[in-house]
Amino acid sequence: MVLADLGRKITTALRSLSNATIINEEVLLAMLKEICKALLEADVNIKLVKRLQENVKSAVNFEDMAAGINRRRLIQSTVFNELCRLVDPGVPAWTPTKGKNNIIMFVGLQGSGKTTTCTKLASYYQKKGWKTCLICADTFRAGAFDQLKQNATKARIPFYGSYTEMDPVIIAQEGVDKFKEDNFEIIIVDTSGRHKQEDSLFEEMLQVSQAVEPHNIVFVMDATIGQACEAQAQAFKDKVDVASVIVTKLDGHAKGGGALSAVAATKSPVTFIGTGEHIDDLEPFKTKPFVSKLLGMGDIEGLMDKVSELKLDDNQELLDKLKHGQFTLRDMYEQFQNIMKMGPINQIVGMIPGFSQDFMSSGNERESVARLKRLLTMMDSMNDKELDHPQGAKVFRQPGRIARVARGSGTSQREVQELISQYTKFAAMVKKMGGIKGLFKGGDMTKNVNPSQMAKLNSQVAKMIDPRVLQQMGGMGGLQNMMRQMQQGGGMGGAMGGFPGGR
Ligand code: GDP
Ligand code: MG
Repeated sequence: MVLADLGRKITTALRSLSNATIINEEVLLAMLKEICKALLEADVNIKLVKRLQENVKSAVNFEDMAAGINRRRLIQSTVFNELCRLVDPGVPAWTPTKGKNNIIMFVGLQGSGKTTTCTKLASYYQKKGWKTCLICADTFRAGAFDQLKQNATKARIPFYGSYTEMDPVIIAQEGVDKFKEDNFEIIIVDTSGRHKQEDSLFEEMLQVSQAVEPHNIVFVMDATIGQACEAQAQAFKDKVDVASVIVTKLDGHAKGGGALSAVAATKSPVTFIGTGEHIDDLEPFKTKPFVSKLLGMGDIEGLMDKVSELKLDDNQELLDKLKHGQFTLRDMYEQFQNIMKMGPINQIVGMIPGFSQDFMSSGNERESVARLKRLLTMMDSMNDKELDHPQGAKVFRQPGRIARVARGSGTSQREVQELISQYTKFAAMVKKMGGIKGLFKGGDMTKNVNPSQMAKLNSQVAKMIDPRVLQQMGGMGGLQNMMRQMQQGGGMGGAMGGFPGGR
């Protein structure tokens, strides 16, 4: 069972508490049965499932329960904590140090996703402003260097490798020396894998590791092997000093519950998860936000991180304009750019409480990005007057303008017309709202977000959401409603109130 299904089933089980007239042992046991069934179907180890069941049962003791205690809340938060325990190895993860050479070496079986994940991680750090590079120390697999080179070039990440040198130790050493000299902060070494855990692989791994002395050895684990993850992670840990694990392929049909809980059982901290083949399909892994998101409660912390990465505070001008209900084509241009900078739309949407992570499929994601890029290209062909006019659509009624933009951007007139009509709709929505001011106003947010954070979020959420996504959410009204629901506790009409979500 895929993760999104698991989340849905657990959520449904938890919701049954809200529908029950009295909450007693019988109701609790029935709910637990559903949750355990879902976990087992997701391939979570039966021992861990039993532990969860026992822990919840003993934490919720109806006989000794003080009067007035909110049973529903107690049960829900106990289940939440136990779910966290399933995927939390209880070990802090390694983090890089700014201004130093941080050497990260990747290990794992062939096909587990090392090379793909190397590039994803490099891109992740590069976007955050770290000086980042890649080294291909895989001389075992034909075409390995070409693959890394292609990925790195596409993402504009400096790389090192060789077509002629056959000794991975030498390449790794040379690459690291070179990049150290150039003061790179994140130096990622990709190594070769084997089809299974062979001695030759471990031998090579050890030699490379001794040569480059990595600060962090990342073990890349393919989630599709489910519970077998535990034995594999353990085997690698026994050979080299694995400091973190990245679990890949948690999209698609992986029984993710099995993989994540199995890795946690080896006391290895999972730092990221891979959720697709695209370079942006990498998500930092933190237990509580992950479980919150799984249960459709959103990831406020992640959302705040993304928002602050954008440094939207600098953009006071746009904020002021929006408050007055003004929205030009240039504003739309900047908004689209922000969305692109922020990364995958489906990840962003997934962080919003009340949305399951499969809200948008990755197919849609790629289309969205391509579409956004095309829209930006069209707007690149517009002049200042068109971009800055308070009623951009009106300007385009003048003959010749649409044709000029289409010609300039290599698109069709119809596409430009569509862009203008999309802009018109969005500008009208901004106007109707009388600006963003007051949006989400009133009511206090879940206790996990402090008021100043929330105030920021209030004014910024609206700006960073793709108008089409917004439309799917029922426009600004829908978004507002959703935020209100969330403020009243839980993204599911209050059913999850009292959860320590998002932290
Ligand atoms: P390596 O042999 O360990 O270097 O593995 P690669 O990086 O070459 O990846 C093997 C295959 O897995 C490639 O087809 C990747 O596109 C794919 N892959 C890697 N990570 C993910 C992921 O998170 N999701 C999906 N769906 N595919 C992935
Ligand atoms: Mg590889």
